[in-house]
Amino acid sequence: MKERIILLGPPASGKGTQASRMSKAFGIPHVSTGALLRSEASLGTELGREADRWTRGGSLVPDGLVIRVVGDWIAANGPRFLFDGFPRTVGQAKSLDELLRDVSAPLDLVILLELDPVEIRGRIMDRLTCRGCGETYGGSLHGLENGGSCPTCGGKLARRSDDTEDVLAERLRAYCESTLPVVAHYESTNPGILHRVDAAQGSDAIYSVLSALVDWEMQKAE
Ligand code: ADP
Repeated sequence: MKERIILLGPPASGKGTQASRMSKAFGIPHVSTGALLRSEASLGTELGREADRWTRGGSLVPDGLVIRVVGDWIAANGPRFLFDGFPRTVGQAKSLDELLRDVSAPLDLVILLELDPVEIRGRIMDRLTCRGCGETYGGSLHGLENGGSCPTCGGKLARRSDDTEDVLAERLRAYCESTLPVVAHYESTNPGILHRVDAAQGSDAIYSVLSALVDWEMQKAE
């Protein structure tokens, strides 16, 4: 079974949803750098306050801060992970290559969820996030409203502060400029490791493709 996995894709491509489902099914820890940075910010740590300055405007947090968070996570939890939203720059990808080389634990799989900008915008403008458990929902799809209760934990549903038109435009710019080159990095340094998946399909269809990539035998048994 593959246990060092990266999920790449633009905002709202379903990385978080798929990572959380696969993490439960396969027992591989789900690590979202966005969630780790938001949690540092809500704890009010110096790193969190610094990260928040960038995140608020939709810019990428500087590589040094992100690598510190990821390096600490690997040191504390070991090299088994499903990264969601990391690496987002070629610099981060190279640092991760080094971190993994140091512990002799090579990357197993990179998945790229592809989605066009019109669909991305529609999903982001409809997205509600639980302030309690972090779960996300398509508001109109699930009949939920801003300020309502989370069907999973009962927490309060809200729009994420960076889920706005202006901030989304900046996040998409950062994705095209900084994250798409990460795809080329893996295709050139690790041929065959990267798989492209159409993220416009339904969530269950995407999950079947991803779980087959992670472990065909286990997926058949589900
Ligand atoms: P989304 O995928 O919807 O943009 P995330 O929760 O993954 O949401 O990220 C939210 C924000 O956190 C990003 O816009 C960025 O500012 C910051 N961030 C998350 N991961 C990284 C990373 N690997 N490198 C730099 N910034 C990051």
